[in-house]
Amino acid sequence: MRKPLKIVLGLVLFLALLVGGAVLFGMYVTRQLPGQEPVFDTVRPADPGQVGEKGVLIFSKTNGFRHESIEPGIDALQKAGKKKGWDVRTTENGAFFNDDYLRRFKVVVFLSTTGDILTADQEKAFERFVENGGGYVGIHAASDTEYSWDWYDHLLGTHFRDHPLFPEHTPEAEIITDTRTHPTTKHLPAKWRKVDEWYNFKQSVRGKDSIQVLLTLNEASYKATLPKAMGGDHPISWTNTVRKGRVFYTGMGHTNETFTDPNAMPHIVAGIDWAGRFE
Ligand SMILES: [Zn+2]
Repeated sequence: MRKPLKIVLGLVLFLALLVGGAVLFGMYVTRQLPGQEPVFDTVRPADPGQVGEKGVLIFSKTNGFRHESIEPGIDALQKAGKKKGWDVRTTENGAFFNDDYLRRFKVVVFLSTTGDILTADQEKAFERFVENGGGYVGIHAASDTEYSWDWYDHLLGTHFRDHPLFPEHTPEAEIITDTRTHPTTKHLPAKWRKVDEWYNFKQSVRGKDSIQVLLTLNEASYKATLPKAMGGDHPISWTNTVRKGRVFYTGMGHTNETFTDPNAMPHIVAGIDWAGRFE
C-alpha cells in the first residue's frame, strides 16, 4: 500500500475510534441507548378488578437498559407470593399509576425499572399512594430510574452512580449485615458472600433522616478499579419512611441467580412483607 493512503486510512480509523468512544462515553454518562427517547403510557391497561387483601403490584417498565433478570424476578416473586397469600399483579404500563388502580394494592415493586417512565400525573398518583401508607420496594435498577423526579430521589435517599466494569463486572463480594433485628435480615449471617453487579450510589444513605441501613458491602472484599467503588461506606440495602409509607430498597438483583439465592431472595420477600405491613 502506498504511504499517503496508509496515512489517510490511519486517520480515518483514528477518527472513527474517537467518535465511537465519544458516543459510548455519552451513553454511559446519560444512561441512554443511542436515539432512545422515553416512551410514556397514556392509555390505562384493563381494570385490575378486585385485588386481594395483600395486593402486590410488580412494575418493570424500562426506558433505558433492560435487565435479563426481570422475567426470572417476576416468576420468583409470583411463586413466593403464592406461598405468602399475596395477590401479585404485573404491569409495564405507566398509566396503571392512577389513584383508582393503585389504591387496591398495598405494595408496588419497582423491579429493575430504568429511565424516565412516568408522566407528571402518574408520579403524583404514586406520591399520594406512598404518603398515604402504601409500600414501595425497589430492586436493583429501581435506583437507575427517574433521575429528575425529586420526590423519588428523596424516597430512595440517593440514586445510582455507576457500577464496576473492570477488572470484573459482577464480582463476588462480602456483605455485612448491619442489623439482624429487622424482619428482612434476621435470617442472614453476620457476613455473607454474593455475586452481583455492585452499584455505586451518588452518595451513601447512612445517617440520613428516617433511613435505616440493613446491609453494607465490604469494599475491601472485591476489586473495583474502573469505576472506583464508593470510598469505603457502601450501604446496599436499606429502609426509609415517607410520611405513612414504608420504603425498602436493595441494590441486588442484576443476576438471575439473585432470585434463587438463599440469602438474597428471602431478604427481598421479607422486604415486601415489611413494606406492605403483611406480617
Ligand atoms: Zn444491573
